[in-house]
Amino acid sequence: MTTTAPDTRPETRPTLPPAAEDGATARQLSLLKPTGRLTLGNLLGALAPMAAAQDRADCFFGVADLHALTVPQDPADVRERTREMATLLLATGLDRATLFVQSRVPTHNQLGYLLECVASTGELNRMIQFKEKGRGRDSTRAALYTYPTLMASDILLYRPQRVPVGEDQRQHVELTRDLAVRFNTTYGPVFTVPEITTPASGARVMDLAQPTVKMGKSHASTAGTIHLLDPPDVVRRKVARAVTDSDTGPDAVRRDRESKPGVTNLLDVLEACGGSTDGVATYGALKRAVTDAVVARLEPIQRRYAELADDPAAVERVYAEGAARCLEVTAPVLTAAQAAMGLR
Ligand code: AMP
Repeated sequence: MTTTAPDTRPETRPTLPPAAEDGATARQLSLLKPTGRLTLGNLLGALAPMAAAQDRADCFFGVADLHALTVPQDPADVRERTREMATLLLATGLDRATLFVQSRVPTHNQLGYLLECVASTGELNRMIQFKEKGRGRDSTRAALYTYPTLMASDILLYRPQRVPVGEDQRQHVELTRDLAVRFNTTYGPVFTVPEITTPASGARVMDLAQPTVKMGKSHASTAGTIHLLDPPDVVRRKVARAVTDSDTGPDAVRRDRESKPGVTNLLDVLEACGGSTDGVATYGALKRAVTDAVVARLEPIQRRYAELADDPAAVERVYAEGAARCLEVTAPVLTAAQAAMGLR
């Protein structure tokens, strides 16, 4: 693939556009990996806060198909999951953000390589996720090892001032900051060094069958996972089988994360989906209320998804426009980094 960065070869050090400012023009970037099918946990914990952010910030939301390849995947699955996720992001109402698929914005790979030239093996060796995912295996893909530099590229290209990040990605964002500082010190001030902030908290949804484990899109068993495209009868069956406890007293339906994780989770889901606990006194009634609330929350998403799935060209257009805007925003940053390193 040829570079799409415009040739703005500078005479001297390139001048970058101002980094995103606070307030209405602040940038927010979120990437989701298409390694499974989006769940109710993703909706309530990530997509709903992302939808809310659209009116406060200039949002860039991407499907991280390149990151999915750090572990072996069937190419047909990657293609299908990427298509489904891209369509679902639109169907959940993320229509005021710049939506893109990571591999269609080549500046991500291009800067990723430059950052591999700034990172050291010592610091990549310390990445906990690499150690955990590689544990017990003789060999892993080299991309699993270098993945944090691509993630640093994903972030630094957009020059955000803040990166809201959960605990599991914190170490990678700290590395991103280290790389940005090292680059700026070695080659000149190209990158904005982002602050790490705590994400706006969405609901944390637990697996219905194992309520002490987070509901996840890559779990081997899907018995306790509600997918966004699960039809109502599947939702009903999964909720009906949700693990509760053997309390039968008059106050059995109450929150207690320690001793009643299943019931607490059902109450959290009910509330996050806009349902009410009025008149809910038994586990049977609670499960009926949860089913109704979840089905009602998913219904407009599934309806919109069906319309969009019938018109793939419309989805394609949104993502083509998104990729073009990403390139427009990121090409000057890549160009500046290339020039600073002596490549221009
Ligand atoms: P993952 O699906 O683990 O790659 O996560 C993608 C995004 O969805 C992250 O922002 C997670 O915090 C969020 N997320 C995933 N699963 C859950 C869950 N069970 N409850 C709340 N948020 C979740």
